[in-house]
Amino acid sequence: MNTNESSTGAAPSVAIIGCGFGGLGAAIELERNGITDYTVFEKGDGVGGVWRANHYPGAACDVPSPTYSYSFELETEWSQRFGTQAEIRAYLERCSVKYGVARKIRSHSEVTAAAFDEPSGRWRVTLAGGEQQWFDALICATGQLSRPKIPSLDGVDTFAGRQFHSAEWDDSVDLTGKRVAVVGSGASAVQLVPAIVDRVEELHVIQRSPNWVGNKWNHRTSPWIRRVLRTVPGLARAQHNIEWLWYEARVPLIHNWFDPLRGAMHAWLRFKIRREISDPDLRRKVTPDYKVGCNRVLLSNDWYPALNRTHVEVHTQAVARVTPWGLVLSDGSTVEADVIVWCTGFTATEYLAPIDITGRDGRKLHTEWKSGPEAYLGISVSGYPNLFMIYGPNTGSLTNTIIFLLEKQARYARQAIEISARLGRWLDVRREVQDNFNRELQHRLSGTVFTSGCPGWYHTEAGKVVAVWPGSHIAYARATAQVDLAAYHVGDKAIESVRA
Ligand code: NAP
Repeated sequence: MNTNESSTGAAPSVAIIGCGFGGLGAAIELERNGITDYTVFEKGDGVGGVWRANHYPGAACDVPSPTYSYSFELETEWSQRFGTQAEIRAYLERCSVKYGVARKIRSHSEVTAAAFDEPSGRWRVTLAGGEQQWFDALICATGQLSRPKIPSLDGVDTFAGRQFHSAEWDDSVDLTGKRVAVVGSGASAVQLVPAIVDRVEELHVIQRSPNWVGNKWNHRTSPWIRRVLRTVPGLARAQHNIEWLWYEARVPLIHNWFDPLRGAMHAWLRFKIRREISDPDLRRKVTPDYKVGCNRVLLSNDWYPALNRTHVEVHTQAVARVTPWGLVLSDGSTVEADVIVWCTGFTATEYLAPIDITGRDGRKLHTEWKSGPEAYLGISVSGYPNLFMIYGPNTGSLTNTIIFLLEKQARYARQAIEISARLGRWLDVRREVQDNFNRELQHRLSGTVFTSGCPGWYHTEAGKVVAVWPGSHIAYARATAQVDLAAYHVGDKAIESVRA
């Protein structure tokens, strides 16, 4: 039913943008609830999102796989507690087939624009190349960490060697015997550096800010453990729930009231540094000066040992510019390299960019979001009816598995789409409801470590925290359990008149 006709209360048609964990989960949610008229547009070449793109050496999960999987599709075959990138990608591919989504995915289909047409109450979706399709609802699941960010530095195009972002790993480049500069020391660098350290001749780690790094309690899961998990009823579910609760118990870490106990964590993480690094100068370089918890605590057993190696040097200045031979750092020192790997993160705060999204009365989403994205529950945006986001503003999690939140968002979007179809009207969150929600959200954030001024990707340049949720996952699940119709305009009438 992709014609430009008004919504009539018939089975809704839905466009889903993105086929990572979020988009695939949303498609499965629709499929399992009988909404079968949907298309998943994926700009890449298949299912997986960041778990397809990020195939750099060492790429693996930093959340235990029993919880980093859909709650309705527990996997018992992980080779280790923290699954590898290849395993996670294969898991997602299997899910897409098992739940009947695979045949509705359009790969190599980048959505460039989406515009709400008020007379018909439908979304016109435009693909690169110009093709247009019409839908009753739009689910945007483009992720927060899907657009690699390479700093726009002077001379970046002049480098004579090879350079690429960690999320765009170039398999044709052999690092053996090369001088490699890794820029960044976040989650990607912490996995990559130990994986390549044995191969390279020199390794320069450009670490603008150090991160707190804890132990990764990883272990291989032997075939007999997997068999037990597979065959004992309820065991995989129990494992999932216990891991989930263990992670949920970390929520206090994000609150300032936890400060008296935070000292113990600092001591423990400093002890790890002392135990694994003997050089006092290197210890000083890798010790953060900000509160643990306000940035993602990274997990690695081999990051510090890798930095200890004699052919590895940690530089603590930012990159100032790039030359044909390598990097010039902010103190004027130089780093010569054959290969530069940019582990410099993603444009995490620019939600839904670069899709041109037009709402009611011709309003433009990215203009309205100039000083930072805002939404209601991280899902709905006032003025953009029947548009639902998965992993939208302020729904990132530094304490527990994101998959839980993605499932709650998919459930919410599905419920709203069902209500909209039943009424034959569109739903547009009221401006005052969205504003109140965000006022309260920012107020709660002010009592957390996220606003204590540490480096990180979850705030805008002006310092507004737009990426993370300031509470427990249980609280988010409660807030999104049921669509509250009073929070929405229905069509162009208030809900009261529809009820009447
Ligand atoms: P990131 O955490 O944003 O780290 C980017 C790094 O680049 C930081 O060290 C940053 O320094 C540095 N940087 C940025 N611009 C720079 C510049 N101009 N000069 C020098 N250094 C610069 O990126 P990421 O490591 O790719 O990780 C992003 C997120 O992806 C993680 O937080 C995590 O959620 C996710 N991730 C997850 C996994 C997993 O296992 N599940 C694995 C990898 C990534 P500053 O800190 O000073 O800004």
